[in-house]
Amino acid sequence: MTTAPSTVETRLLATAEHLAGSHHSNPPAPWVHPHLEQDVVPVKGRQLRASRPIRKGELLLVDVPYALIPVVDDPASSDALLCSNPGCSRPTQCGARISCPKNCIADVVWCTPACQGADQARHGFECTWLQRYAAPVRAKWGEYDFGMLWLIVRILAARQRELQRDQLDDDTTPRFQGGWDAIQSFCGSTESWSHAQVRSWTALVKKYLRSGPALPHDLTPDEIVALICREEANSFGLYPRETGVFPVPEPPVDRGDQYGAAVYPRAAIANHSCSPNIMHKPDHQGRMVFTASRDIAAGEECCISYFDLSKRVELKERRDHLQGLFRFICGCDRCTAEEPSVEESDWVGLPFVE
Ligand SMILES: [Zn+2]
Ligand SMILES: [Zn+2]
Ligand SMILES: [Zn+2]
Repeated sequence: MTTAPSTVETRLLATAEHLAGSHHSNPPAPWVHPHLEQDVVPVKGRQLRASRPIRKGELLLVDVPYALIPVVDDPASSDALLCSNPGCSRPTQCGARISCPKNCIADVVWCTPACQGADQARHGFECTWLQRYAAPVRAKWGEYDFGMLWLIVRILAARQRELQRDQLDDDTTPRFQGGWDAIQSFCGSTESWSHAQVRSWTALVKKYLRSGPALPHDLTPDEIVALICREEANSFGLYPRETGVFPVPEPPVDRGDQYGAAVYPRAAIANHSCSPNIMHKPDHQGRMVFTASRDIAAGEECCISYFDLSKRVELKERRDHLQGLFRFICGCDRCTAEEPSVEESDWVGLPFVE
C-alpha cells in the first residue's frame, strides 16, 4: 500500500515534471518552495527565510531571468554561447546556429529558426544599439563594461515588452514579485558605491544609454545610473557547476568558467553567507536553481554564497572581495567565528594611554 504524497512532495513532483517538460513553445515559469518566504529585517533589509523545516537536497527556488547575456571569450568557436531567445537560453553548437541577419554582434545567435522568430521583437530593441555601440564600447572600455551595458539594454528590452503588454510579466508567483517591479525593488543605490564608480557609470550612461532612436526608453540618465547600481549589486554570473558548496570538498572543486550573466527577480533576494545553507546553479535554460545543502530549521535565514567558496578561503580574502564587489562587510557566522579575538588583535596592539 502506498501513502498519499504530502503537499510538499506533490509540489516537488510537480516541479520535477515542470522542469523536465518545459519546451521552447512553453516559456519557463518560476517556482518557489512552499516553505520559503521573504522577510524584511531592520538594517539588513530583505531576506529569504524557511517558514517550516526544509530537508537537505530539497529544491527551494527555480527562477527565470528577467534578462540574460552570454559571456564567452570567442563566440565563433564556443559551444557555450547561449541562444538569444529568452524562452530558450540553451547552449548552441558551433556550425549549427543562426546569426543575426544584420550582423550586429557574433554573440547574438539562435539555435533554431523558431527561436529566432520568437525573439524577433525583443532582439529588434537591442540590434541597432549593438550595431552602433558594441565595437566602440569593447575597444574603449573593455569586455566587463560592455557586458554590463548590454545586460542593462536587455533589462530595458524586457521592460519595454512588459509595458507594451501593459501588464506584469506573467511570471508573478504568489508571495514573490516578478517583472520590472521586482528589479526596481532590488537593494543598491548610488550611495552604496564609490563616487569614482558612480561618475564612471554616469559617463557611460550619457554616452551610450541615453534614450533615443537607437535605444527608445523613457528613463532619465539618473534613473539608468540607479538601475546600474542595482544591477551590479544583484546580478548573477552563470557557471557550469554549483556555487556555495560548503564545507568545501577536499580536493576543492571550483564552479568552472563563466558563460553568462543574468538578473533574477526572486533569486536576488537571497543574502550572502560564507557558510551558506543553499547552493545554486543555473539549469540548461538559464534558470537559477536553489537547492538546500543541509537541513534548514524553521525560522532560519536561507543564504547563498556570492562567490566561489573554493577560491577564497581566508577571512580577509573573503571580506575584501565582498566589500569590493558587493559593498558590505560580511558578518556571517563563519566570518564572525574566524575573527581574531579582542585579546589577539586590538587589545595587545593598543598604545598605552595615560
Ligand atoms: Zn533556442
Ligand atoms: Zn542583430
Ligand atoms: Zn562571511
